[in-house]
Amino acid sequence: MSTSSAPTGNAADTTIGFVGLGHMGGPMAINLAKAGYAVRGFDLVPEAVTKAEAGGVVAVDSVAAAATDADVVLTSLPNGSLVLGVYRGEDGILAHAKPGALLIDTSTIDVDDARTAASEAEVAGLLAIDAPVSGGVVGAEAGTLAFMVGGPDASVVAAQPVLDVLGARAVHCGAAGAGQAVKLCNNMLLAIHQIGVGEAFALAEKLGVDDQAFFDVASVATGQCWALNTNCPVPGPVPTSPANRDYQPGFAVGLMNKDLGLAIAAVEKNGVHAELGRHARDVYAALNEGEASTKDFSVVYRDIAQRSGITEA
Ligand code: NAD
Repeated sequence: MSTSSAPTGNAADTTIGFVGLGHMGGPMAINLAKAGYAVRGFDLVPEAVTKAEAGGVVAVDSVAAAATDADVVLTSLPNGSLVLGVYRGEDGILAHAKPGALLIDTSTIDVDDARTAASEAEVAGLLAIDAPVSGGVVGAEAGTLAFMVGGPDASVVAAQPVLDVLGARAVHCGAAGAGQAVKLCNNMLLAIHQIGVGEAFALAEKLGVDDQAFFDVASVATGQCWALNTNCPVPGPVPTSPANRDYQPGFAVGLMNKDLGLAIAAVEKNGVHAELGRHARDVYAALNEGEASTKDFSVVYRDIAQRSGITEA
């Protein structure tokens, strides 16, 4: 364990506390343990802790125990209230982390909550970054996540060795909250793309055009985008897309719905004229009410096709 307060970048000398060992946090904590870090993990759900323990994480019984003497404390939690909840209070990370420790929040949360967390960490004498991810559970397990990072240069530099273990790429997007901002903007755009691709396939089919023919043109023409070229919502043209396995995620409707809720809250707060973003939020909120909530978000095509009277969808 390091006796200095700043993270060293040397795994053998660096102790990591990890709070939130769920679908994303669990494999991230295990990858850090496998890379040689001493990782102390805490989660409210015993099964999540047991799974992480099997991967080399040392289980502790509280947030405070995860933070005490740690050089770096990571969080991977469902929302901003929970992140602020584990940061604050007598038993919280801010009260127990040693001076100069680095806090990395990998959760997707409200931009203002991320800024609040960063400023409270600074007041407590700690370094902090927001570092939401894309890449899903597969990326968390493979250590190939993409991080969108917000925070001061020194904190981002200090975080780099840890982010290198967990991800293939980390982009420093700006000051505190900028990582969350980029994540929400990207996912709002992605949702709009996925709906648009679904509508285009439905129109092509109604006009008597084969899915493959539309794909062959659009995927190399001006309609190309990840939602078409990689996450193609009809079975066939892209064999690895979720449409070929009954829309098993991938990135679930429930998670897209969550991110759109955060994005549109920011749209409203900042007075942005975002008609398509609002529409995408409504579309995914409705889908999230039904059995599609656990499907990949490209399942929106199936809904569009059914409403269009395309019976084989
Ligand atoms: P999850 O629900 O599987 O994991 C969250 C974990 O936090 C749970 O195990 C829960 O018990 C734990 N937790 C909640 N409150 C706690 C507390 N006070 N103390 C300790 N543990 C607590 O969620 P996830 O899918 O792992 O997502 C985590 C974050 O990553 C979310 O913000 C999500 O939006 C984001 N994210 C998820 C994905 C994905 O594909 N799952 C992709 C990108 C981003």
